[in-house]
Amino acid sequence: MAVYKILGENEPSLREKSKPVPKITPNIHKLLDNLAETMYDAGGVGLAAPQIGVPKRVFVVDIGEGLHELINPAIVRWSEEEEIDHEGCLSIPEKLGDVSRALAITLEGRNRAGETVTIEAEGYFARALQHETDHLDGVLFTDRAEAVYARPPESGADGEEREAEEP
Ligand code: ZN
Repeated sequence: MAVYKILGENEPSLREKSKPVPKITPNIHKLLDNLAETMYDAGGVGLAAPQIGVPKRVFVVDIGEGLHELINPAIVRWSEEEEIDHEGCLSIPEKLGDVSRALAITLEGRNRAGETVTIEAEGYFARALQHETDHLDGVLFTDRAEAVYARPPESGADGEEREAEEP
């Protein structure tokens, strides 16, 4: 396992559409391990493969309730109800934004064993999954934000962290 450099928002690779994973190989397992280690090292709650320069549809999320590793994830249901809340990103550590997201979603993908997983998520977990899925399509939270502002210095610079919800 290894901690990777997290790419910043001006890196072109963050704007590319990532490719589906055709086969779950040992290299994909290694990618999942490296994503999780890099995310935990940075104190984040989610990290997508393009953020470490790997244009594959893979991300990890842990909002403090356990690690989720997702391969070829797709959101298959969005609640009509949306919620506006603060959002940050490990690739954009100096900014926060107010982003409207579906309050609840259903996401389908595969786990490292290749099994189909279905996640019903609400609130902050649903927000994190929507944020990471956006990364796979080259979309950043600043594209969706109704307002973007400088992160207050006291909130730290680690992005995508739980504290960003309540400044
Ligand atoms: Zn992000």
